[in-house]
Amino acid sequence: MLDLLFHNANSLHFQENIDIGIAGNQITYIKETGSSMPAAKQVIDAEGRVILPGFNESHIHLEKAYLLDKMDRDAHSLKEAIQMTAELKKSFTNEDMKERAARVVEKCIQSGVTNIRAQVEVDDILGLSAMNTIMALKEQYQNQMTIQIVAFPQEGIFIQKRGIELMEEALKMGADAVGGIPYNDRDQAEHLNFVYQLAEKFEKPIDLHIDDSDDPEDLSILDIIKLTKEYHYENKVTVAHMTSLGSVFHEKATAIATKIADASIHVIALPATDLYINGRKDKEKVRRGLTPVSTLLDNKVNVIFATNNIQNPFTPFGTGNILDVAYLLAEVTQMGTAQDAETILDMLTYRSAKALGLEHYGIKVGGTADLVMFDAKLLRNVLLDRPKVICSYKQGKKVI
Ligand SMILES: [Zn+2]
Repeated sequence: MLDLLFHNANSLHFQENIDIGIAGNQITYIKETGSSMPAAKQVIDAEGRVILPGFNESHIHLEKAYLLDKMDRDAHSLKEAIQMTAELKKSFTNEDMKERAARVVEKCIQSGVTNIRAQVEVDDILGLSAMNTIMALKEQYQNQMTIQIVAFPQEGIFIQKRGIELMEEALKMGADAVGGIPYNDRDQAEHLNFVYQLAEKFEKPIDLHIDDSDDPEDLSILDIIKLTKEYHYENKVTVAHMTSLGSVFHEKATAIATKIADASIHVIALPATDLYINGRKDKEKVRRGLTPVSTLLDNKVNVIFATNNIQNPFTPFGTGNILDVAYLLAEVTQMGTAQDAETILDMLTYRSAKALGLEHYGIKVGGTADLVMFDAKLLRNVLLDRPKVICSYKQGKKVI
């Protein structure tokens, strides 16, 4: 006997509408909607609406969201955003971080997200206070949201007094991935070597901020491809931003994309930040400042997207609804067809699940019962209308 049966749902990668059955925290039954239905304690008639596996917010900064009321000016470059935020971080308290981070998690829940990968800052300013705060939040929300934590050295590792020690400590505390930001340290190679060694030591995946500029010479991705192969870390490395590749001539960018695909490195576009920060000095032929999403897609790279920042010096925008970011990406990458809309939804679900290493993800027998029903009947309308979430389930338990 099933605990719950969703009847007549439209879902990604299924040709016909389906019935989805749940027992405990798992999906145990999937069949095309027909005349017969299995016995279930509860049946929800989707009436042809879209049901998707919960969205993945695969790159977000929780503890530095919602800082606009603390800012006395806007940042006009990445460097300025980093400096301004470092200054603001001095006034962060545990309570204040918790309140702002929880606001983001609540927004994510409302928009159909069931998995978050959070970049949590570890440096001389915050020490491990952000780690402590987000670890507590992870536990508090465990029945509504799975939160993965990346130990993220925003202020660098080797230019911090306690950088090395704090990164080690964060991993010992239970960080799920090793973060890195080679462009914000004294030596990129030294920084990257440390990250790969730490990840290998703790057997954790790697999640990096890289090449966040519009300078075609900024290509730390080439070193990352080499290291990924050396360490046999294929499929376990994710890079975010990589906007500089968008300024590289197409032929060379294509060759690099092929190598990224070959090393199975996942790429995350962060359009809300990337469009805001990059291309600012261009007076004509103004660049969009985004990683070349279509070139990456054409060359079989697992390219996805995420929110990154909400209302802070890096991105003074953001509603917390991941579908707004989806819409922004679709618009700026000119992905306007019904098929493109499905690709965008695939990035928010199955493709990002690969980057986050989520086992048992998705609508399949044996899949975790993280399901969201939207008030839309066509997949395309989930992107176009950003409809209300009618109900959502985390591991078989009702959240909305
Ligand atoms: Zn980030």
